[in-house]
Amino acid sequence: MINVNGVLIMEKTILVLGGGIGGIRTARELNKLIGNEDEVTLAKILVFEKEKTSLFAPSLTKLMVGQRDSVQIQDDLTNIELGGIEVVHGEVEAVDPENVTVTSGGTEYKGDYMVVSLGTEQHDIHNLSKAGHNFYTAEGASAFYDQLKTFSGGKIAIVVSSLPYKSPVAPYEAAMLTDQYLRENGLRDKTELAIYTPESMPMPFAGDKVSEHIRSLMKEKGITYHSGHELTRTDENTLYFKDENGNEVGAELDLMAYTPDHRCPTVIQKSGLAGKSGWVDVNAATLQTSYENVYAIGDITRIPLSERDNLPKAGVFAQYQALTVANNIVRQIHGKDPDKVFTAQGKYILYQGNGKASRVGGDFYSSNLDLKETSAINHWMKTLQEKAWFASHF
Ligand SMILES: Cc1cc2nc3c(=O)[nH]c(=O)nc-3n(C[C@H](O)[C@H](O)[C@H](O)COP(=O)(O)OP(=O)(O)OC[C@H]3O[C@@H](n4cnc5c(N)ncnc54)[C@H](O)[C@@H]3O)c2cc1C
Repeated sequence: MINVNGVLIMEKTILVLGGGIGGIRTARELNKLIGNEDEVTLAKILVFEKEKTSLFAPSLTKLMVGQRDSVQIQDDLTNIELGGIEVVHGEVEAVDPENVTVTSGGTEYKGDYMVVSLGTEQHDIHNLSKAGHNFYTAEGASAFYDQLKTFSGGKIAIVVSSLPYKSPVAPYEAAMLTDQYLRENGLRDKTELAIYTPESMPMPFAGDKVSEHIRSLMKEKGITYHSGHELTRTDENTLYFKDENGNEVGAELDLMAYTPDHRCPTVIQKSGLAGKSGWVDVNAATLQTSYENVYAIGDITRIPLSERDNLPKAGVFAQYQALTVANNIVRQIHGKDPDKVFTAQGKYILYQGNGKASRVGGDFYSSNLDLKETSAINHWMKTLQEKAWFASHF
């Protein structure tokens, strides 16, 4: 029991699963709203994370082309510890949503509330790791750059290996930043640059106008866009796809980066939290799961926008969801009703290379989206997001 201004409050424990973008934002917001200070802990916030460092994944596309190094886009996770926040380093081995408990390192932790933000589990399919680099990891993005530095011309492709994948802007960014690198190094005339994806259009959830804009950027930069191409197998450096007409198409590549297969983390699949889709279904406004006091946010969730599309897996939404959940948990701790709803308002920025970027913003639940095309301001906004992330959380 803690005495706050004459009111006795029972100290609560909040379990935050995952120390990525959603988990860190949740922990920091909870800590601020609850009023924790270094000397006075009103609620314990335990962040469970298997990695020692936290990676700012939106900067991986810059790592691929040498505009960042891996040290610049990661930080030691213990630097988020402040007030009542404590990092529990280790694999989350079991989750029991019914009893709000987590097991890590053989120890069971009991909480009053739980926020699941474990992201996606990445898998290499069709032996892709033998043919190229998974640019959704710091190691893969760095290895792509190592090969790009000695590249002297030939065929490069960015391949979407399966659906869904997080950050639907990333393959386009990767291709356009590679295009910039090749031009700056006098290699563009000697290089064929392509994207292969099973999608029928870029960022389908954002509507025709946004999709058309991205297609026109690809065309302008001479990047061949192979939509409707489903990867079926890999044979050394040749990738095989089933095209829109069901025909097999082969592509022999000299340098290739790919998105991995994304799955709901196994520990969550086993916990009963994952729904029929394989992902965690939540209330679209409150991010509550079907278990009392258990919330899920970020890439691990599935929020349908239409029969065809789901809310994209993106850091911008993970962060807004974190703010919603933190606010509502703190209100409940203080005996008040939750009053914040997640509205899927967000800005999604796409680097185009040469210091330019486009921005899609608005309410993603309503598909009433605004497109701000090619500008330097958009580029700086996205760069600032990276700086602000490290400055305000570590
Ligand atoms: C190349 C690339 C570019 C991107 N660009 C953008 C962009 O421009 N804009 C944007 O909004 N988003 C972008 N994203 C997406 C963004 O990074 C994710 O949507 C965001 O990180 C999701 O946050 P999260 O908390 O759900 O998951 P994550 O940030 O992935 O965090 C999950 C954490 O859980 C940990 N974890 C998983 N399983 C366990 C376990 N069993 N035990 C312990 N710890 C575990 C992981 O190690 C990880 O740290 C990009 C992503 C990539 C890969």
